[in-house]
Amino acid sequence: MLTKDKGICIRTTDYSENSQILTFFTRQTGKISAIAKGTKKPKSSFGGPIELCSIGDMVFALKDGNKLATLTEFNPTFFGAKTRKKLLSLNCSLLAADLLNLFTKEHDPHPSVFNEAISFLQKLEESGGDKVLGLLIPFEFSILNETGSMPVCDVCSNCRRKFGSAWKDFYFSSLANGLLCKDCEGAFIDRKQVTPACAQYLNNPANAASDYKTLVLTQNLLIDYITHILERPPRTAIMISKLINTPTG
Ligand SMILES: [Zn+2]
Repeated sequence: MLTKDKGICIRTTDYSENSQILTFFTRQTGKISAIAKGTKKPKSSFGGPIELCSIGDMVFALKDGNKLATLTEFNPTFFGAKTRKKLLSLNCSLLAADLLNLFTKEHDPHPSVFNEAISFLQKLEESGGDKVLGLLIPFEFSILNETGSMPVCDVCSNCRRKFGSAWKDFYFSSLANGLLCKDCEGAFIDRKQVTPACAQYLNNPANAASDYKTLVLTQNLLIDYITHILERPPRTAIMISKLINTPTG
């Protein structure tokens, strides 16, 4: 059966001399793996190898009981050409691909995450410099939220005291799975003190417009947190850490 869908390429592996095995996050089917035969041949009907983070209309065949689909058409509508020229933007787009792969299961669609991913990649293409983290963090929150992995930031994740202005100090712990109040921070060895602005942002990510320092602090916490959930850092997270924590970078 041939299926038409729209997908984001989130993983590529070379297969034999001319082909690729690709993972797509699709709108209607969710994550799928597919072989694309001959994409690396000079006169391939695909018009060349399929790139990570490209978005396109696709047709694939998936036989019952078969894990690997066969990609028959992929007509890219978005390449991210400008993003590829900017190191931090490029790494943020690769991290988004990594997260889509790591946080979703095969054949389990999440249309709202799909739409957020498309919007994120397109906005990334038009922005640069300081704006990038302000795009990445809301996307990370949306995927964590949709996949049930959101850190607890509306109450103390330990004693459940409601987050608010009465809190004197703010801490975050991946082990505790969220924010911690002053009374509870001592019990979690990995806790880090965070600024009030960072705690506010974690508490209400929709209320963005944060300064760059807060965005960097929040992104560092999210990398720690995602690494804790996945039990290893996403491949691109280390590079992003380096880029955002180097003042001249
Ligand atoms: Zn507490």
